[in-house]
Amino acid sequence: MRIAVTGGKGGTGKSTVAVALAYALSKKYRVLLVDADVECPNDHLLLSIKKEKIRDVFQPSPIFDYDKCTRCGKCAEVCRENAIVQIKGKNPIFMKDMCNGCGACGIVCPSGAITMGKRKIGEICKGKKENLDFLGGEFEIGLEESSPLVNALKKEIKEEEYDFVIIDTAAGTHCSVISALIGCEIAFAVTEPTYFGSHDLDLILKLADTLEIPSKVVLNRFGMGDENLIEKVAKKHKSEIISKVPYSRKIIEQYCRGIPVADESINKIAGYLEAKK
Ligand code: SF4
Ligand code: SF4
Repeated sequence: MRIAVTGGKGGTGKSTVAVALAYALSKKYRVLLVDADVECPNDHLLLSIKKEKIRDVFQPSPIFDYDKCTRCGKCAEVCRENAIVQIKGKNPIFMKDMCNGCGACGIVCPSGAITMGKRKIGEICKGKKENLDFLGGEFEIGLEESSPLVNALKKEIKEEEYDFVIIDTAAGTHCSVISALIGCEIAFAVTEPTYFGSHDLDLILKLADTLEIPSKVVLNRFGMGDENLIEKVAKKHKSEIISKVPYSRKIIEQYCRGIPVADESINKIAGYLEAKK
């Protein structure tokens, strides 16, 4: 069973919940935790484990031969990422950090001036904490589009070896989050009882609705704000709050020490998944 732990807003405790849930389930089941927040991976820190690189990930990257180029501008016109700029009569300028490797420029070039090379966009790592297996991606600094790395990471998942695969997505609703969510049977949206939390929860639940993934809400830092804000948004999307993680000193201390959070609120989510299996 593949499960996403996601959240429209950064800093709501999404990774804390994902790690705690995976660790709790791993006491009884075969569990893989996948850190798909490849631009800001931190699950390994929350688990206090050392990652080991499995492999580098590359994507296609155009190479321009200006001797063959007729400066027609077709490559710049077709590039949806605006990674190619062509000033009339001049050679095209390629901004590699914006390129997603789609290859369209090479296809449309009428003079054979573009060939596709490759470049590194990140790496995939693995690790282990007791019974819990870990897989994570690490995106190269300064690049723009991380979803190809998330897709490469997903290809490493051997679903048949696990009872539960927990995917910790990036925050937000951008392409990398969509890539991580696709294929999940349920999404837990982690939020906090604040106006920002309710606004961004609305966005992530809307995305889950669009992708037709059933969603449940995990209310983190329960007790520090107005939970009615979150109730309203959950109701709007025909979802519900499945668990409330208290804003407590005990949980903050566990987090700071790199110990997966152990709390009844996390066991409640684990129990929900066990019942669904
Ligand atoms: S490979 Fe795609 S994204 Fe990259 S420069 Fe060519 S058209 Fe643009
Ligand atoms: S499409 Fe080919 S020929 Fe035309 S500007 Fe681009 S590289 Fe040059």
